Amino acid sequence: MKKRICILYTGGTIGMVPTEKGYAPKKGYFYDRLRAIEDLNEPNMPDWDMIEFEPLLDSSNIAVDQWNQIGRAIRDNYDTYDGFVVLHGTDTMAYTASALSFMLEGLSKPVILTGSQIPLCQLRSDARDNLITSVLIAGQGIVHEVCLYFGGKLLRGNCAVKTSADGLIAFDSPNFHSLAEAGIDIHYNTDAIVPPSKGVSLNLVEFRQTSIGVLKVFPGIQFSLFESIMTESLKGIVLETFGAGNIPSYDDALLPIIKKAFEHGTIVTVCSQCPSGTVKLGAYQTSAALTGAGAVSGYNMTTEAAVAKLYYLFSLDLDRDLIKTKMEENLRGELIK
Ligand code: ASP
Repeated sequence: MKKRICILYTGGTIGMVPTEKGYAPKKGYFYDRLRAIEDLNEPNMPDWDMIEFEPLLDSSNIAVDQWNQIGRAIRDNYDTYDGFVVLHGTDTMAYTASALSFMLEGLSKPVILTGSQIPLCQLRSDARDNLITSVLIAGQGIVHEVCLYFGGKLLRGNCAVKTSADGLIAFDSPNFHSLAEAGIDIHYNTDAIVPPSKGVSLNLVEFRQTSIGVLKVFPGIQFSLFESIMTESLKGIVLETFGAGNIPSYDDALLPIIKKAFEHGTIVTVCSQCPSGTVKLGAYQTSAALTGAGAVSGYNMTTEAAVAKLYYLFSLDLDRDLIKTKMEENLRGELIK
């Protein structure tokens, strides 16, 4: 039986057209363009349908409501299709891939996010390959998780980061192998692929709007400037530290602030500014006190995954200690200790 794929078109460069103010998506324009791509409609390809989102977005405008909208579209069409391809802008694709990986509990079908750096309608567009290969991968059904396909690489969605603003190989997952590479053939790295969830049905956890912040540490940072936002306004903070989790110790303000934030119920997760490698709290004096102050280690999670995981765990209504524990656990392949 021919596989059936549902393409969810949310916006992004892939379907954009030039306007006086720069590229923008155009309502009702893209479906006919896809139908005109011969390879997408040839007999060896899965059958596909497309759902166009309203409004189509530049992905810089994606927020919790749109993640929920994508999640609901997958849940509502889950039994009808063998896999899903989500067309999305590249700017926040890694965040959305991370968010979907957490919100789609019990997923056992492929969900592949893709897009392009050059619109389909332009010369030298990378849209065709990204799209055709994503539909093929979704139809092959070898992966059963949320992935991101771009520039010949299939990546675990919650390990992916956008690494280039203009290159056609725009994504990487510096802390985890590619799940597949598409050259002449598509080679899957079967050891890296998680087995499908068995005997559980799909459950969508819609995200709640939650006050989450990302604070990047830099030389000369005055933590006291951030005190009120860290201790009063935010429920979850991703602290992007140096190297293996280090913070400057010239300023005594940070640890009491983290302690106060923790007492206030805020989860402070320590990630690294380095794209690859892992946080090791206590490896240096400059990180040793973070754990005592109540911070949790994000190990080698990307900031994108840590942000999405905080939204997810806060949406589950767990108590603070359980959120802390789960932030340090591997839930969907996003973290390796
Ligand atoms: N600004 C665009 C977006 O994220 C960039 C892209 O799709 O490549 O929607």
